[in-house]
Amino acid sequence: MQPPQNLFRFDNSYARDLDGLYMAWKPAEVRSPRLLFLNRPLAVELGLDPEALATPEGAAVFAGNAVPEGALPLAQAYAGHQFGGFSPQLGDGRALLLGEVVDRQGQRRDIAFKGSGRTPFSRGGDGRAAVGPMLREVLVGEGMHALGIPTTRALAVAGTGEEVVREQLLPGAVLTRVAASHLRVGTFQFFAARDDMEKLRRLAGYAIARHDPDLAGAPDRYLALLGRVVRRQAVLIAQWMNVGFIHGVMNTDNMTISGETIDYGPCAFMEAYDPKAVFSSIDRNGRYAYGNQPLIAQWNLARLAEALLPLVVADGGDAAAEEAVARATEVLKSFEGLYQAALLRGQRAKLGLDSEADDDAALANDFLRLLETQQVDFTLGWRRLADAAAGDEAALQRLFADPDRLREWTVRWRRRCAAESGVTSQSRADRIRSANPWIIPRNHRVEEALQAASERGDMAPFEQLLAALRRPFDETPEHAAYAEPAPAAVTACYQTFCGT
Ligand code: AMP
Ligand code: MG
Repeated sequence: MQPPQNLFRFDNSYARDLDGLYMAWKPAEVRSPRLLFLNRPLAVELGLDPEALATPEGAAVFAGNAVPEGALPLAQAYAGHQFGGFSPQLGDGRALLLGEVVDRQGQRRDIAFKGSGRTPFSRGGDGRAAVGPMLREVLVGEGMHALGIPTTRALAVAGTGEEVVREQLLPGAVLTRVAASHLRVGTFQFFAARDDMEKLRRLAGYAIARHDPDLAGAPDRYLALLGRVVRRQAVLIAQWMNVGFIHGVMNTDNMTISGETIDYGPCAFMEAYDPKAVFSSIDRNGRYAYGNQPLIAQWNLARLAEALLPLVVADGGDAAAEEAVARATEVLKSFEGLYQAALLRGQRAKLGLDSEADDDAALANDFLRLLETQQVDFTLGWRRLADAAAGDEAALQRLFADPDRLREWTVRWRRRCAAESGVTSQSRADRIRSANPWIIPRNHRVEEALQAASERGDMAPFEQLLAALRRPFDETPEHAAYAEPAPAAVTACYQTFCGT
């Protein structure tokens, strides 16, 4: 078959510049490609033609059967700390980078497969993916994007017409994922662990050119790169925390250099506020619990610092080793301040505040404490502050078992709001609504949509949920069912699984 032409305009810098850091590889052929999902708005953003992609030819491309013109599929090498233990060789075991396109904003974006068959990095795995988990990537990724949180996004999901063997037989699928890049902390760890200075240097140069081009040529560029990643991750994790997102598997191979959220495996959104919340079936010790995420991010960034250190030292000569460690430690320590500042910035917006006062962090924390002790739904608890600001406190109070404690807090909050002059109650309410979503990807709704698609081939619940997730701040009556928390009994035994 002729390679499909004119679908993408690839420009493959990874393949071109990083020879030796990947293996060229082809996607596996599958039995009967069928397009289950095409992200039309994203296709347009990428300068692609959605009509040309929504064809049998497009389905063949997104299932891996037809490699489009200009693509140079490759499996990337990376390592990673998984649940604290180091695996020196992971790599794309079921993923392939097809290439890069430059989008309409001039941003370079990776186009990559997940579930496209075995590669030299597959170890024991089958290289495949199932429909449910790939559609989960769509829902959670699009939900995060609509919430304004940096994330990789799904361009398409193609069914393969084949079954994958898990605990049961499941319909197979291939996800096409778009990312600012697929560079991970683990990519650096792979070459650092092998003392391969030449490749490590090329990789760092590539990361700087791609994500922080203003640092190119700077004498302290490797430490500066570390600083940029620290900053992006501090802001990202603060955003996660302010929407109650639990990634579930924050291994260093799942942490990007770009600052995008990646790999929606055993992730979940918190319902009743609980810092210890953890849903992942494989996270038995709660390492990646909601409240641990900032600490884990810092731990992962320390692993990036270790991987970059040989470059810093080499550039500074032998005598520089001690100083390099001290300076890298300083950069790592900056995480805490950046994170706290980003968190508080987000919390002020959630409280409807436009100014800064000393007690704002205490005000936010005391509200969280109330949510925690009274097991209030995190999303609705914040959202109903908007109604309270507009004059209706009843909807907020109904969420609390002991509204008296809440009243003590709302008196403080109202006093703090009143200190900002010239804000009408309506514009305060609007401000709060724009910072506190009404709709998040609630676990039971996601599960329901995936089940219908996977078990019955019924995409309607998925489509409806996706439409709601794309308008998270709008209180439209037709989306009301998606704003409701799951019954507590459902949440209590909710678990998410990865690797499927
Ligand atoms: P993940 O948990 O999806 O981030 O994957 C961690 C590592 O396991 C990566 O190197 C993946 O490529 C690999 N992996 C996960 N599932 C499979 C699979 N079914 N076949 C081959 N490799 C896999
Ligand atoms: Mg991963």
